[in-house]
Amino acid sequence: MATRKILISGASIAGPALAGWLGRNGFDVTVVEKAAGMRPGGQAVDFKGRTHFELLTRMGILDEVRMHQTAKTDWRIVDEADRVMAVVPGEFIGGDLEILRGDLAGILHRHSAADADFVFGDEITAMSEAPGGVDVAFAGRSAERFDLVIGADGVHSAVRRLAFGPESEFVASHGYYYAVASGHVPLDGLETALPSGRAVAYGHSTPGRLVLLGGQKAPALFVFRSDRADYDRRDIDSQRAFLAAAFAGGGWRTAAAIEAARTAPDFYLDALTRTRMSAFTRGRTALVGDAGYANTLGGFGTGLALLGAYVLAGELVRAGGDHEAAFAAYDRRMRKPTRIARSGNAGAFLAPPTERRIRLRNRTFTNPVLRRTMLWLTDAFATDDSIPDYRLA
Ligand SMILES: Cc1cc2nc3c(=O)[nH]c(=O)nc-3n(C[C@H](O)[C@H](O)[C@H](O)COP(=O)(O)OP(=O)(O)OC[C@H]3O[C@@H](n4cnc5c(N)ncnc54)[C@H](O)[C@@H]3O)c2cc1C
Repeated sequence: MATRKILISGASIAGPALAGWLGRNGFDVTVVEKAAGMRPGGQAVDFKGRTHFELLTRMGILDEVRMHQTAKTDWRIVDEADRVMAVVPGEFIGGDLEILRGDLAGILHRHSAADADFVFGDEITAMSEAPGGVDVAFAGRSAERFDLVIGADGVHSAVRRLAFGPESEFVASHGYYYAVASGHVPLDGLETALPSGRAVAYGHSTPGRLVLLGGQKAPALFVFRSDRADYDRRDIDSQRAFLAAAFAGGGWRTAAAIEAARTAPDFYLDALTRTRMSAFTRGRTALVGDAGYANTLGGFGTGLALLGAYVLAGELVRAGGDHEAAFAAYDRRMRKPTRIARSGNAGAFLAPPTERRIRLRNRTFTNPVLRRTMLWLTDAFATDDSIPDYRLA
């Protein structure tokens, strides 16, 4: 086999999924993850449609994912007085099968730990491609040469920056941001669980802002528009201040939610972004998952990450390790399923910029025909029947 030794950066969803496939099919795989271990918890992520289910079945993890699935959560959009303006169905928000990202990452890691060498608490600092491989330097361990390097290190991918160029060339934002935080915000007087077993989260919209409380995505989720990214990515206090300024005078239960976010230990804020890449490979480097095709809160990122891992491994096996042939086929095959990462603006949908657009968004979910159409569309976007069965071990 031409290619044997592969380095994967990132151990969340795409990284362990790819490591498992490659390791079980004859490759020598190292995964380097900058966190000290697999990170538990996180927001709920979901699978939708038959392509995702087929993948989970081929991976042999469908039953385990089902065992960890979260309750379906409907989002009730309410006004200042808690009157329900629209209900966004759990199937739209959480697909057909929803699970916490950390639980899924744990399952994937358990299924790949024996097939790859996982190195935690380290990261790539430099890469240079030579005719026979890629020379990689790390923050901790000694430099090493690999046949291929795969970036599975998320939307702010270091591999993409080192091999393709600066993030600004490949990642676009529409001026929308999101923040997630744990921390209890009382929902007194509101029903949060239904006799059917479904859960209910409550959202309040004002132009350019959405506060959502009690859902599976996160105990508190904020989505908002801002003309200026007035915060420092490395300074959490500046991010909390940015959020508080954006929601100042928000009404409803916003002040309590902002207060919870002010002290939540797992507070996280980022821009809602999507990638725009014409190819996911360059030379001996490839990107898989959010590193190559992210669309935060709007792009089936988790299903796509698993799909990308399967296709990349399948093409490498099919090409007998000839990475040029395999990468060309991976780029070609992932073009269609990743189109959702290049379109749509989840921010404008979740936090419409005007009262009129808020009413329009709400109407989409109060009108049964429009609601069915939305559900059908998401299913169509998530399903791709052109992916071959690579018959991997
Ligand atoms: C609030 C929120 C809600 C979401 N909801 C959904 C949903 O409902 N459905 C859905 O399908 N998707 C959802 N997503 C998207 C989903 O989380 C991602 O698409 C998915 O996690 C992508 O997996 P990944 O492995 O490509 O990247 P990530 O999960 O981002 O993982 C990247 C990994 O790389 C590591 N890393 C980063 N930099 C380096 C480095 N320099 N060196 C080594 N390691 C590094 C990170 O620590 C991390 O472990 C949501 C995302 C957010 C933020």
